[in-house]
Amino acid sequence: MKKIAIISCKMIRTQNLCPGDVQCLVALNRKEGEFERYKDEGAQLLGIIDCAGCEGNKSRVIPAMGLLKMQLAAFNENLDAIHVGTCIMKFCPRRDDLLTAIKEKAGIEVIEGTHTYAPLTIFGK
Ligand code: SF4
Repeated sequence: MKKIAIISCKMIRTQNLCPGDVQCLVALNRKEGEFERYKDEGAQLLGIIDCAGCEGNKSRVIPAMGLLKMQLAAFNENLDAIHVGTCIMKFCPRRDDLLTAIKEKAGIEVIEGTHTYAPLTIFGK
């Protein structure tokens, strides 16, 4: 069983454009999208954190990861992998900087993406 966390876009989460993290959670439960890799072994979601926002330095995601690590350590837990949310992968203008910073510091596998449910068009069929 892999222990995982998700890093999401703060703007999308706090402006309620992703209510309930539903797409990521459904994909994880169904083992679809980037969670398909856990079909056999299984995965436990131990946390969802955000990138810490557009303002200021891109490295604010690093202290956010550090705080998650501290919280997990209090319960003798740690992560095997971090997923960078589809919200960041698709929409963040700082995506490459964020990915570089996350990969430099994570020390565990970093997987680009979560669900694949985003529609190709809004009104098209
Ligand atoms: S830096 Fe990117 S991922 Fe973070 S809030 Fe801004 S747009 Fe979203």
